[in-house]
Amino acid sequence: MLAFLLGAAAAAQQPAVSPAIRALHERLLVLDTHLDTPVNLGRPGWNFAQRHSFTDDISQIDLPRMKEGGLDGGFFVIYTQQGPLTAEGYAAAKAHAWRREAWIRAMVRQLPNEMELAFTPDDARRIAAKGKRAVFQSIENSYPLGPTVATMKDFYDVGVRLAGPVHNGDNQFADATKGGKRTWGGLSSLGREWVKEANRLGILVDLSHSSDETVDQVLELSKAPVILSHSGPRALYDSPRNLDDARIKKIAAKGGVIQVNSVFLAPMDDRPERDKLSGQWESLEDASPREAREAGQAWARLEATKTANPVTFDRFMESLLYVLKLVGPDHVGIGMDWDGGGGLIGMNDISGLPRITAALKKAGYSDADVAKIWSGNLLRALGEAQRLATK
Ligand SMILES: [Zn+2]
Repeated sequence: MLAFLLGAAAAAQQPAVSPAIRALHERLLVLDTHLDTPVNLGRPGWNFAQRHSFTDDISQIDLPRMKEGGLDGGFFVIYTQQGPLTAEGYAAAKAHAWRREAWIRAMVRQLPNEMELAFTPDDARRIAAKGKRAVFQSIENSYPLGPTVATMKDFYDVGVRLAGPVHNGDNQFADATKGGKRTWGGLSSLGREWVKEANRLGILVDLSHSSDETVDQVLELSKAPVILSHSGPRALYDSPRNLDDARIKKIAAKGGVIQVNSVFLAPMDDRPERDKLSGQWESLEDASPREAREAGQAWARLEATKTANPVTFDRFMESLLYVLKLVGPDHVGIGMDWDGGGGLIGMNDISGLPRITAALKKAGYSDADVAKIWSGNLLRALGEAQRLATK
C-alpha cells in the first residue's frame, strides 16, 4: 500500500490481444502478490461482486474485472499504517488488521461459487481449475503483531501465508526503506525472532518496504527463500522502494522471486492537493458512498492535470524485462500494487492483464516461462517456505 497514491490516467480502451494470446492467458494460472483491495471491502455499499470503474470510485479490482483480466487470484493484503510503538498504538493496529482480515474472509464467504481461500500452492491450482478465484492472505506491516512474535500464529491460523516485517517508517521489528530513521540498523532483536517465527510457521517473507540493511540481514537469517511482493529495479529508477542489482541477484540466488511493481518507475505527483487527498484515502474504508464518490471525483480532477503515477505500459515492461534479463525467468513474477497506488497510463485496472502476456511472448519468452512468471515461481517459493516449516 503506497499511501493511496493511486496511479493511472482516465479510463482508456485496452488494446485488444489476439485470440491465441487470450487463450494462453486463460490457460495460465495468473496471480498477483499484492492486491490492496481490502481497503474497498469495508466501504459502505461497496460490493466486490459488482463491476466498478477506476474513474467512478478509483477501485481497480472486483470480481467482474478479475474475470475480464484473467486474474485467477493472489494475495489480498492486510495493510496497516505505521503508528506509535505504544500499547495504545499496538491495540489500534491490531483491531484494524483483524477488521481487514475479517473483510477478506467475508468476501470469500459471500461468493462461495466464485472464490475460495487458498493456503498452499496446490490449493491455488485446484481452485483455479474449478474456474474460481484463489484468495491468499498476506500482511503488509507486522506492526499489528505488537511487542511479541507469538501473535503471528493467530494470523497463520486464519490463513496468512505471506508477511512483510515493515511498511513506511521503522517499527518494532525492522527498519523501513522509506520514512525510517535507521532505528535498528536493519532488524531489531525482536525482528530476528520474527524471521525465525515466519520460517517456523512456513510464512513466506516479503521484503518490499524493508531497508537495504533489513534485506541483507533477513537474507542471511532466513532458512527459506524470500520474495519482494511489489518492488522493482533501482537501476531503472532510483527510489528506495526499488532494489539494486546485487540485492535482486542475492534474492534470486536464495531461490526467491522479485514480483515486479508498476510504481516507482517515474517521478510521482507530489502536489500538496495530492498529498491531502492521499491522506484522506487512509480512512476511505469508513467513508459514505457520497464521500467516496466526491474523493474519487477530486482525484479525477487532479489526474486531468497531472497523473499521480506517470508510468506507461512500455515503461512497466522495460522494468519487467530488465529483471528477467538480470536473474532469468525462474525468479521473476508480477505484483503491481493494484488498489494501493498501482496502475499504468491507459491500464488503470486489472482488465488489461492479457497485454502483459502478449508483451512477454513478443519479447521471446516461451509459454512455460510466462507460466512461471505469472505464478509458477511464486508458488515454488511459497511451497519451499512451507516445506521447510518446522512447526
Ligand atoms: Zn506497499
